[in-house]
Amino acid sequence: MFLDLLSRPLRSLRLSVTDRCNLRCQYCMPEEEYVWLPRKEILTLEEASGLVDIFAELGVDKVRLTGGEPLVRRDLAALVRMIARNPRIEDLAITTNGVLLAEAAQALYDAGLHRVTVSLDTLRSDRFRALTRKDSHEKVLNGIKAAQQVGFTGVKIDSVVMRGVNDDELVDLLEFGKQINAEVRFIEYMDVGGATHWSIDRVFSREEILQVLARQYGHIEPIAQVGWAPADRFVLPDGTVFGIVASATTPFCRTCDRSRLTADGTWYLCLYAQCGFDLRTPLRVGASKAELISLIVAGWTGRSDRGAEERKELRFRDVLVSVEGLRYDPHLEMHTRGG
Ligand code: SAM
Ligand code: SF4
Ligand code: SF4
Repeated sequence: MFLDLLSRPLRSLRLSVTDRCNLRCQYCMPEEEYVWLPRKEILTLEEASGLVDIFAELGVDKVRLTGGEPLVRRDLAALVRMIARNPRIEDLAITTNGVLLAEAAQALYDAGLHRVTVSLDTLRSDRFRALTRKDSHEKVLNGIKAAQQVGFTGVKIDSVVMRGVNDDELVDLLEFGKQINAEVRFIEYMDVGGATHWSIDRVFSREEILQVLARQYGHIEPIAQVGWAPADRFVLPDGTVFGIVASATTPFCRTCDRSRLTADGTWYLCLYAQCGFDLRTPLRVGASKAELISLIVAGWTGRSDRGAEERKELRFRDVLVSVEGLRYDPHLEMHTRGG
């Protein structure tokens, strides 16, 4: 097992399969125009799964497909099939906005995908439209239903909470989760690239989330953390479990075993990292597996990133990257990094 400079193992990989998306969430893609990764630089499915195999040899056993919106990538099920064949990958999941899930769920299930997380921030269709600029709320709800119908168990719902936008829906979202038997995870609004409208006063914090839920449900018990998961988990008196990912106010960098591979094969050691490692070029010029392995090992063993903690330590905290900066290097976008 390879450890970084803070003794964190290389265990989990977020694989972004596209930087494109069919929604325009306020907290991720608020602009009208975007600079996209050049198409010829997007990894083929074979290139992507080949790199996953190499990461798996180095200790990665958790892969999460993401984007952009992963379901807009053609033949995603074929990629799932290739990755699922690797016995070292114990957990193969997807994070999707759910818009295309109803039509894709069966093929993904058949291809061997293990788990599905759907991002859903509101139960109100008018609010969904305001948040995402698209009228796709019903499609998302149908997508969640379809995923469960084809056999996915343990479907999760991820909800980014923004003050003044959807902080009045915490109980409703939790009740929705209970009703459909899906665990809800509340995510603090993060100051990542792409979030050009971010400000600290729009973050509805972990503590505030817990206060609102305690008012409704009474005592909330934290669940002892196992492993390297980013979400703090809690249980309500009736046994309902939910999570909070508090990257903005209570970062978890010390236990972060995660790296990110963008759709064009750039490998990032942290969500906040300004530069990544280009794996596509060596791959395409015929680098051997041993050469790719030594590049990755050198990267990980030299890693000391703790981006969210460093952001928290700042006295004045503003948006991370300007719109001009994002246009200059779209790799800095959240929708390129995969969240
Ligand atoms: N399009 C897919 C989706 O929305 O689920 C996958 C990619 S998206 C970048 C991955 C996750 O990042 C989503 O759950 C989304 O809510 C989250 N996200 C994006 N921008 C965020 C921000 N500024 N703060 C917190 N979470 C964010
Ligand atoms: Fe929203 Fe995900 Fe698309 Fe970002 S990538 S705009 S979070 S759906
Ligand atoms: Fe990991 Fe970087 Fe996120 Fe911290 S900020 S949890 S080091 S990805």
